[in-house]
Amino acid sequence: MSLAFIDLAAQQARLRPALDRAIAGVLDQGRYIMGPQVAELEKQLAAFCGAKHCISCANGTDALQLALMALGIKAGDAVFVPSFTFAATAEVVPFLNATPVFVDCLPDTFNMDPESLKRAIVHARSLGLNPACVIPVDLFGLAADYDALIAIARENGLKVIGDSAQGFGADYKGKITGSICDITTTSFFPAKPLGCYGDGGALFTDDDQIKALIDSFRVHGKGSHKYQNERVGMNSRLDTLQAAILIEKLAIYAEEIEARQVVAARYTAGLSNRIETPYIPDGLKSVWAQYTLKAASEADRETIRARAKDAGVPTEVYYPLPLHRQNAYKAFPSDPKGLTVSEDLSQRVFSLPMHPYLGQEAQDQVLAAIIG
Ligand SMILES: *Cc1c(COP(=O)(O)O)cnc(C)c1O
Repeated sequence: MSLAFIDLAAQQARLRPALDRAIAGVLDQGRYIMGPQVAELEKQLAAFCGAKHCISCANGTDALQLALMALGIKAGDAVFVPSFTFAATAEVVPFLNATPVFVDCLPDTFNMDPESLKRAIVHARSLGLNPACVIPVDLFGLAADYDALIAIARENGLKVIGDSAQGFGADYKGKITGSICDITTTSFFPAKPLGCYGDGGALFTDDDQIKALIDSFRVHGKGSHKYQNERVGMNSRLDTLQAAILIEKLAIYAEEIEARQVVAARYTAGLSNRIETPYIPDGLKSVWAQYTLKAASEADRETIRARAKDAGVPTEVYYPLPLHRQNAYKAFPSDPKGLTVSEDLSQRVFSLPMHPYLGQEAQDQVLAAIIG
């Protein structure tokens, strides 16, 4: 039997009656844009992570752009981003005429390397750029090394935006992502740990002024009413239908995060003497957007992936080419020491099927396929 990489149908089967009621409620009420479910979801999301404010928006990429707009990022500013991430993290920076500067990651957590960030800041200054902001990513569901990264940011006058598209709800030393950075962004793309049935995103902040700016920017830079424009903004709202769906999904999210721990622990127990399994530092808890292994070499990875495919076990490579090597981004600056860890990881990593409804039998099928 072939497994699904991410099985959204199992969750839907569990929630179907509640989802049908929630969707019917929106249809009955007819407030498709900014209906009451949007504000209710924002309240619940803020409470979930312990942030003062949550502002929803149309997707995780817009969330990053809105964050940069609220911080006033502009031409001449350097924004430090990892290279080993999804393109959206860097993509929004040139849109605001600022310069993305690529930073390497750590070989064990795959998250931003604080030493590489320090070198990249010095390098950006030498190019005449103004170091303004850093965007650490909670890659694969694990929070970045925020203590170290925020300390460097404060020393250098940088704002910190956490890109938690993959990591909303992850535990970092007793804090939940969303409550750690100046602004945190997330995505509700269906395959993310907390996903809706379309596009969706959100931002989190404790700062009242930043909250007010994001609220304005997401609706055409509105002032105190809709047809008063205080600033050039965008149209980036979360649909009421998606908010209603997310309220039902958020209600079981904490339980699903625990179910993901069980799958990950069983994978690690079955594989750690055969292949390099994920490293989770003390005091951290991943939400396991991905469970990612490190093969000995690119050839080894392809052998294992082919064997898994034959056994009906899908695997994926996140990410096969780091951003600083992509045509769209290779002209931008990066840590002058090179991004050797990002380059090495892109050749060796691969991810296994992971979702909260992956049963023991399916897990055993995965383990057998990887062990060979
Ligand atoms: C998915 C993702 C985004 C973008 O989210 P969308 O909702 O698809 O726009 C941004 N950053 C990272 C790290 C992601 O994984």
